[in-house]
Amino acid sequence: MTSRTTAEWQAADARHFLHPFTDFKDLAKKGSRIIKKAENIYLWDSEGHKILDAMSGLWCVNMGYGQQPLIDAAAQQMKELPFYNAFFQTSTTPAIELAEVLAEVAPPHFQHVFFTSSGSEGNDTVVRMVRRYWDVLGQPNRQVIIGRINGYHGSTMAGASLGGMSGMHAQGGLPIPDITHIDQPHWYELGGSQSRDEFGITAARWLEDKILAVGPDRVAAFIGEPVQGAGGVIVPPATYWPEIQRICDKYGILLVSDEVICGFGRTGNWFGCETMGSKPDLMTFAKGVTSGYIPLGGVMVGERIAKVLIEQGGEFNHGFTYSGHPTACAVALANIRLMREQDVVRKVREELGPHLAQRFAELAKHPLVGEVQTCGMMGAVQLVKDKATRKAFDSALEVGMVCRTHCFNNGLIMRAVGDRMIVAPPLVMTVAQIDEMADLIQKVLDLTL
Ligand code: PLP
Repeated sequence: MTSRTTAEWQAADARHFLHPFTDFKDLAKKGSRIIKKAENIYLWDSEGHKILDAMSGLWCVNMGYGQQPLIDAAAQQMKELPFYNAFFQTSTTPAIELAEVLAEVAPPHFQHVFFTSSGSEGNDTVVRMVRRYWDVLGQPNRQVIIGRINGYHGSTMAGASLGGMSGMHAQGGLPIPDITHIDQPHWYELGGSQSRDEFGITAARWLEDKILAVGPDRVAAFIGEPVQGAGGVIVPPATYWPEIQRICDKYGILLVSDEVICGFGRTGNWFGCETMGSKPDLMTFAKGVTSGYIPLGGVMVGERIAKVLIEQGGEFNHGFTYSGHPTACAVALANIRLMREQDVVRKVREELGPHLAQRFAELAKHPLVGEVQTCGMMGAVQLVKDKATRKAFDSALEVGMVCRTHCFNNGLIMRAVGDRMIVAPPLVMTVAQIDEMADLIQKVLDLTL
């Protein structure tokens, strides 16, 4: 790697690198922050500033930075067999072993996995698989998949269509046909005078209304994140997912849980659906499966679907060069082994999550904060102009950006989603590090006021 000043790196960055989800011209003006190294939960930029990474990279570095077993697993596998594919009736030992281990950690009705390299590819696979399932069963009219406004399922054509991000739908002719949306279970914004639990039922019944509007015999599946991540860490009321499950069962519709963020311990169980009380037919995963050290994603396939596709489906004409990439699978195996050795999932559920919840509850007293929400090791702080009336700021985006700038200047990476400030820190944080993070959040809120 060449040695350059920060300004030189920024200039080269602006000249050649088109960043995801970025206004290219604006970034070229401001210059990107160059991240140079990382250890545990901290990053260092090219100017030597130490930063607490409260977003685990992009919701993925669950086991923190610098984990030697993951680094060793990649190096060892690269030496032995860096790549071979799983097409044409070949397989590799890391992919086989990982499939076995995933079947152990997932709810017991998941005994099969289809590998991809990302969450978006996983959700594209869901669309193909769900439609194939109904075709094989002789119900080709069941094509429609229902997602949610402000849900996020990735950035490919199918992923962005399943998601309900208006900014994405505004570009490139999305959503693709036969994908439709219902509103989100966002109590603070949409709950009005209902209690959280009442609103959970109301929001779930929007699914039934939509099924009836589309026609039950045309609906193939419903997809949702157990807790919406990119939408702003919207933790649904406890009543929501059981009611969604009941409605899916009533109409025989497949339930898909997008576990790309919530999977691998984030909510205090291996998968978010376990925390939220649903029993999906498919689960998409990515990110935390390798702690982000190397790209890997996939779809866990429940027995209801696996049985049909295996016994009646014939050839499934879908897959990727890197489906079951041996190096990525070796890193995932090392990551899951480490999670088990360190009892991370239980710690999130019983120690770290409750401590985060307690510290966030204190933040709720701040004059700028309308509500706080946490679930395991993810949390949101809702910024509000008037606490009593829940009146939002005139420019939600602006206040979020002010707050985010204060974070940046005070050694904290937190994300602003409109006027919701969110965290999803590494699951290996100590209680003292949660306190350090919460104190920093308190400081940036004071500065934003
Ligand atoms: N699904 C969810 C819930 C996500 O949060 C993301 C990414 O943030 C994706 C899917 C897409 O994953 P990827 O960016 O790996 O394609």
